[in-house]
Amino acid sequence: MSDTRILLSEREMPRAWYNIQADLPRPLYPPLHPATRKPVGPEDLAPLFPMELIKQEVSRERYIEIPEEVLDIYKMWRPTPLHRAKNLEKALDTPAKIYYKNESVSPPGSHKANTSVAQAYYNKKEGVKRLVTETGAGQWGSALAFGCSLFGIECRVYMVRVSYNQKPYRKILIENWGGEIFASPSSLTDSGRKILAKYPDSSGSLGIAISEAVEEAAKNDNAKYSLGSVLNHVMLHQTIIGQEARKQFEMAGDYPDVVIGCVGGGSNFSGFAFPFVRENLTNGHNSRIVAVEPTACPTLTKGLYSYDYGDTVGLTPLLKMYTLGHDFVPAPIHAGGLRYHGDAPLLCLLYDEKAIEAVAVHQRSIFEAADLFTKTEGILPAPESAHAIRTAIDEALKCKESGEKKTIAFCLSGHGHFDLSAYDSYRNGVLDDYEYPEEELKRLPAQLPKV
Ligand SMILES: *Cc1c(COP(=O)(O)O)cnc(C)c1O
Repeated sequence: MSDTRILLSEREMPRAWYNIQADLPRPLYPPLHPATRKPVGPEDLAPLFPMELIKQEVSRERYIEIPEEVLDIYKMWRPTPLHRAKNLEKALDTPAKIYYKNESVSPPGSHKANTSVAQAYYNKKEGVKRLVTETGAGQWGSALAFGCSLFGIECRVYMVRVSYNQKPYRKILIENWGGEIFASPSSLTDSGRKILAKYPDSSGSLGIAISEAVEEAAKNDNAKYSLGSVLNHVMLHQTIIGQEARKQFEMAGDYPDVVIGCVGGGSNFSGFAFPFVRENLTNGHNSRIVAVEPTACPTLTKGLYSYDYGDTVGLTPLLKMYTLGHDFVPAPIHAGGLRYHGDAPLLCLLYDEKAIEAVAVHQRSIFEAADLFTKTEGILPAPESAHAIRTAIDEALKCKESGEKKTIAFCLSGHGHFDLSAYDSYRNGVLDDYEYPEEELKRLPAQLPKV
């Protein structure tokens, strides 16, 4: 009988992150300055990020060594287990094997600690006193507050208002790690005040919260900005997930035919999948790599591949990505971490190259999948992660039809212990499904910045 949990020891933990920029089928489009529309250089980014992260952003080195101090902190919860979901397989009566990489075991409860710790480390090393950021569902805010607390730097978080109200416990968690937190849009920044003047009842969006955090960091010499997804260096730090998973599959004597992850900005998906994408691109493997997004915010499946701002107000560099438009405010689904208008440029290029696939799934269907997962595997997943579970189950059910014995792997990006009110709504039958409004698609080309 094969193992239920495939475990690496601390000593077997990978010591380098994998940088997929070394293996891309074509180079990335450069980020453009929001005012001049010229490619941004390191000096443009220096007010926002420490130099070491700027270097990682453009590096073509295939492997980047993980600093000893970061490895030591990773060891608090890493290597994370790769589980074989035997009970779920049994319940589905599928011939497929289902594995999941469990990133919910970090202290803040998600994969986001993999990059928050690294970012806090590089900022501390370059003398930064405070990190400013935005958060959607609150996972990134808590992960960064956790990282900052370990390195003794301040942390300030702008949290999307709808989540701030839906998830008060994330706020308290952030405060326990010493972070300060404000509902966004706030009246603390010009960006926030501008939105509030136009929409006093704005429920907020990640794009708006980013504008507020970037503005504050740019105006303060001792503060820098920190982003929890989308950027190349964030994808890089997350590859510890897939690097471990590859070793674990080797130990299990298996290899995934299908690799699945949910996508908000793309970091847990990319971190889990890129090491397997590399095997496809350079080692003759042929796994299907599937990104899962909500129908309420279908960036890859419905968006346009175009330069757009990362934020709502237009303060960030323009990134070439699949986008639904920087002023798109998605329906208030409970997977707050998936309500972002764009996706990571690295992931978008690979999607455009057809190296990865994408599907969109409905809110109620992801809670049904989460419910079955909790009852079979015992872990209450984050609603974001439940998108990956939905698709893994759908793939396993296809195998039941066809009799194929595929190996399916997904990333369990986090737990849902702070999403209990969402589960309550599901149980009471008051959850809605949201379709992306088609009128939005028609007005999209006109509102994208011209380059
Ligand atoms: C933030 C978050 C996501 C979405 O962000 P990505 O950068 O796309 O990974 C997904 N799952 C969990 C648990 C999160 O906290």
